[in-house]
Amino acid sequence: MGRLPPLVWLLALLLLLPTPVGRALIDVLGGVALVLLALPFILGGLGWIGWKVLQSRMTVCPSCGAASFQATPVCAVCGSAFSETNGSQPTGSRFEADSTPASSVTIDVTAEDVES
Ligand SMILES: [Zn+2]
Repeated sequence: MGRLPPLVWLLALLLLLPTPVGRALIDVLGGVALVLLALPFILGGLGWIGWKVLQSRMTVCPSCGAASFQATPVCAVCGSAFSETNGSQPTGSRFEADSTPASSVTIDVTAEDVES
């Protein structure tokens, strides 16, 4: 085994001895490790928020189902015009369109015997 270079000994001493320099070095290393660990989560969160913003600005064509931006008045795929009561607007016309309260709606369910 060859001798370790003095820089390694210096670093080991700085890390082992409770000196302010060693403590600062450990703090810096911990901060770097924390940033490296948190970076994927931060980027994932930013990507998720960006995707949600993008999704809220998209609209689905009622005739062909293709997604396109709400700024365009007609569908980019099939060319049909988007109506005012489009389903993908966040609040407003969609909920006013069917304003029947759910408690007053009756769903008929009939039971059938299924021979297996
Ligand atoms: Zn379309």
